[in-house]
Amino acid sequence: MGRGSVVFLHEKRGILCMKTKPSIYPLVSGPARSRRFGLSLNLNFGPAGESCLWNCIYCPWHNAKTKPKKASIPKQNWESYLATVTSALKKEPKIETVILGGNSELTLYPDLPNLVSALLKLKKSSKAKWKLIALSNGSGLQDKKIRTSCEKVDQLWLKLDCAEDPLFKKAIRPKSRNAEFKFLLNTIRELKGVRIQTAFWKIPGKEMNQNWSADNLKALLKLYAEIRPLEIHLTTLKRNRSSAGAQPVTFEEMEAFALRTAELGINTEVFP
Ligand code: SF4
Repeated sequence: MGRGSVVFLHEKRGILCMKTKPSIYPLVSGPARSRRFGLSLNLNFGPAGESCLWNCIYCPWHNAKTKPKKASIPKQNWESYLATVTSALKKEPKIETVILGGNSELTLYPDLPNLVSALLKLKKSSKAKWKLIALSNGSGLQDKKIRTSCEKVDQLWLKLDCAEDPLFKKAIRPKSRNAEFKFLLNTIRELKGVRIQTAFWKIPGKEMNQNWSADNLKALLKLYAEIRPLEIHLTTLKRNRSSAGAQPVTFEEMEAFALRTAELGINTEVFP
């Protein structure tokens, strides 16, 4: 097995980071410069932080204690998304990525298969180079049609912060059976060509709720080795956007961990 490469964000000089408001809620936003995906257009599927089946302790978009119990999914049809994306791409041909999800869960959007097909058709017919990216926590991936559509995008990124069920229950707090840890793991194992994104956090005084711990790191390495994702992105929290006292992990700490994932032969990028 070859050793994977590690890329740290500070190597990418010249990247411009635009701030977005935590409560952002147009369903299509951008183009904006994303740290991970370049000049991007973002499609979301509900109010930020309210339209997924998780209740992460550090959710930057919503105070987890007041979060609604059910995911709030809008009725916007896929044709409206397509029309907005088409027009934005015409206005800004330098867009590098069209991102589905991010602050909402795309796999809970019932028209996702139609939307993905239409966007891929648009890309093909215009011979464009932008990439279609899906960012998911996997909640709706047990639906075969949704899963198949996610496997068709250029890059499918699954969120995996906690490698064992007890921490997942305490920190991620799924609101539905379909969003539980065992279902997430089974889904990840079945997916073709998955990429993994892991966000780390610490909570001073409540260490039992943080995922930056020797046990979780060890268990994550074991899972990465088993899943063998195409790539791993390691991120941490924005100090001014997290809730419940969660704090970011330092770049140096993530850098040291990235060297261990690279030892597994998996390309890894670190985003402080
Ligand atoms: S997956 Fe977690 S962090 Fe992301 S929007 Fe849902 S609750 Fe917030």
